Amino acid sequence: MEATQHAPHLPNQYRDDPVLRSHLARALPAVLLAAIEPDLDALGEQAAQAWREARSRAPAVPLLTRWDAWGGRIDRIEVTPVWRRGAAIAARYGLVAAGHDARHGAHARIDQFARVYLHHVASEFHTCPLAMTDGAATALKRSGDVALCERALPRLLAREADRLWLSGQWMTEIGGGSDVGATATVARRGANGQWTLHGRKWFTSAVIGEMALTLARPEGAPAGADALALFYLETRDAEGRWNGIRIDRLKDKLGTRELPTAEIHLDACPAHLVGEAAHGVRRITPMLNVTRTWNAVCALATMRRCLVLALDHARHREVFGRALIGQPLHRMTLARQFAGFEAAFELVFFVVALLGRVEAGTADGDDALLLRMLTPLAKLWTGRLAVATA
Ligand SMILES: Cc1cc2nc3c(=O)[nH]c(=O)nc-3n(C[C@H](O)[C@H](O)[C@H](O)COP(=O)(O)OP(=O)(O)OC[C@H]3O[C@@H](n4cnc5c(N)ncnc54)[C@H](O)[C@@H]3O)c2cc1C
Repeated sequence: MEATQHAPHLPNQYRDDPVLRSHLARALPAVLLAAIEPDLDALGEQAAQAWREARSRAPAVPLLTRWDAWGGRIDRIEVTPVWRRGAAIAARYGLVAAGHDARHGAHARIDQFARVYLHHVASEFHTCPLAMTDGAATALKRSGDVALCERALPRLLAREADRLWLSGQWMTEIGGGSDVGATATVARRGANGQWTLHGRKWFTSAVIGEMALTLARPEGAPAGADALALFYLETRDAEGRWNGIRIDRLKDKLGTRELPTAEIHLDACPAHLVGEAAHGVRRITPMLNVTRTWNAVCALATMRRCLVLALDHARHREVFGRALIGQPLHRMTLARQFAGFEAAFELVFFVVALLGRVEAGTADGDDALLLRMLTPLAKLWTGRLAVATA
């Protein structure tokens, strides 16, 4: 008889994760942990359910329709079924809001990132715009622009799906990815004082969002990164039409295929200057540091998923008369990978705790400096390790 292989099984991803559970038991007050545990348990169950569903359906990708049947430009993006449920899950579990919940002080970020870690793989990279939404909320809070905060923060931190806004972070252009000083988008100020943006953004992963923070060079400003200014824009007008934005195409990527990353033109897109008409890179940096933290947490989630699938396979796969897990060399390979993952987990959640303390104003000593140094390192290390683990 032909042999078939055991299909990998995922149990509840919260209950089955001793690394997360033991960390939370040490890092959070028992009362807070008890209060959030039903949510963590539900996210863990959802992750297992999403895995079962994903195994039995064809992969889906977003679609861009640029023209309607009558030749009108519409630039409609249809997202995947999982993405259509994304806002409801994000709002219900406070995937962005929990990190800004002042009631939980320095623990808010630990609560939030435990949720993100449990949800990431099931989200099909919906965590990417959520990261930028969190980053935008953080950058706006630091901007000191009260009116802008009053307008956008209740939306970015909403716990109701119909109120929740997503934000993009539109920096990368053809000439400037790493070298953001090469940004060619120009900001013009009209006679009425209204700024408009003119240029081309080459990687916008959250063009489906309601707003974005972006960089542009005020007309007449000198070259270089420091002369760039930070702008806030809303993607749609009151009638739901694109606000001076054209979608050129969606990226045909090797990975993150469910994520509708677009190439766009800004064609007199109305925008609001955040702060003074320069030093925009400095002003957007809080956003970058928050998205780096999300990146590190999501890399952990990816690693863990790879490892639990490998472990499940090793427990069921028979080779040379016994389960693979009983073969010393294979056992050692997996043990090494689990050890790397656990070390990465502790580093990342150390950074998360630092972020919480710095934001809550309870940091001491060199916490702020340590956070600044460790955030990009944690992102780099976990990114590399996740690829190696996969
Ligand atoms: C899936 C995906 C989604 C994205 N979504 C967004 C988004 O929503 N918004 C956004 O703004 N951007 C987005 N990006 C763009 C991303 O941030 C850029 O790709 C990144 O900034 C690198 O820029 P680049 O691609 O132009 O590479 P380059 O800057 O051309 O770099 C190419 C290589 O050169 C190396 N390099 C660059 N400078 C140096 C140096 N000084 N010394 C040594 N090596 C160097 C880099 O490490 C890299 O390996 C996305 C990218 C991807 C892959």
